[in-house]
Amino acid sequence: MDRVYNFSAGPSMLPEEVLRKAQEELVIYRDTGMSVMEMSHRSKAYQAIIDEAEAVLREIMNIPENYKVLFLQGGASSQFAMVPLNLFKNSKKADYVKTGLWAKKAIAEASRYGTVNVVASSEDATFNYIPELDKSTFSPDADYFYITTNNTIYGTRYIELPDTGDVPLVADMSSNILSEVYDVSKFGVIFAGAQKNMGPAGLTVVIIREDLIGNAMDITPTMFDYKIHAENGSMYNTPPTYSIYIAKLVFEWVKNMGGVAAMQKINEEKAKLLYDYLDQSSFFKGTVVPKYRSLMNIPFVSPSADLDAKFIKEATAQGLVNLKGHRTVGGMRASIYNAMPVEGVKTLVEFMKKFEMENR
Ligand code: PLP
Repeated sequence: MDRVYNFSAGPSMLPEEVLRKAQEELVIYRDTGMSVMEMSHRSKAYQAIIDEAEAVLREIMNIPENYKVLFLQGGASSQFAMVPLNLFKNSKKADYVKTGLWAKKAIAEASRYGTVNVVASSEDATFNYIPELDKSTFSPDADYFYITTNNTIYGTRYIELPDTGDVPLVADMSSNILSEVYDVSKFGVIFAGAQKNMGPAGLTVVIIREDLIGNAMDITPTMFDYKIHAENGSMYNTPPTYSIYIAKLVFEWVKNMGGVAAMQKINEEKAKLLYDYLDQSSFFKGTVVPKYRSLMNIPFVSPSADLDAKFIKEATAQGLVNLKGHRTVGGMRASIYNAMPVEGVKTLVEFMKKFEMENR
């Protein structure tokens, strides 16, 4: 069977070149005589892999010297707790913007350890936009300010970052890291689960400004303390070795593609193909307020739930898979992360045109 175009929101497509390279090195990695999966994380060969992963990530994201890169486990969901446990130190208060299910989960978790001020929400319209932020509602003494840069389920994205002054900006970048250029120096913490734009599940990348490390609350479990991981080069315990290795190959792939700016250009081109089609269609409809449309996750609906189901079924038969929308919103969602080729989006649009003609 040929590879399909996989529009899954995550885990999602990986670049075929990366998978082929991993296949080549699967059983015997270079001159080690063993698979990366079988290596001690303390070995010289593995240290070279993790060092290279960090170096290339630093290069493609232009991560400043005074930031640590941590390769952790526990998913982005663990960060919902790790962020407050480590960053609540003075007022034990933080500002959050409620832009979807993941932000809600982060709010619930932070509320267990301190005071959460929800400065804005788009829940009134099923999170189909990013709320405008009014600086006068920000807490001047907040320990941090929290956003989700791209909302995977609803397909929204911040078009500009909030100006939080001296209050560190914390971002859940799980579904758009490496897809567009961000100035890392504008953030206190960036975190992302790897399984969308960086590699297999099991790895969570944290990029954190050094001065925010070392203030964990007393109750913080050892494994949730950024300081422990920073001091041990992400090797306090066994890191997700194979996921880090694949992520290294993905970082190298991004670099070879011309870096994050080049990826952004391709992503804008891919998203435009789909949005332009949706905007002129009288059958399919995009569900997001246009200004806040994501480049990564594109939700849309047909005229009825029955036609949605028919569309998903027929698309699957054509090798266009995982187009079903999130269970909480229904309809369809095309996730077109970095690894989705332009050709995949073109094929989807052609299929949508045909389906529209046959079913309108
Ligand atoms: N944050 C965002 C924006 C997500 O899209 C997801 C998963 O889809 C998560 C957090 C949760 O990630 P994990 O499953 O790695 O805990």
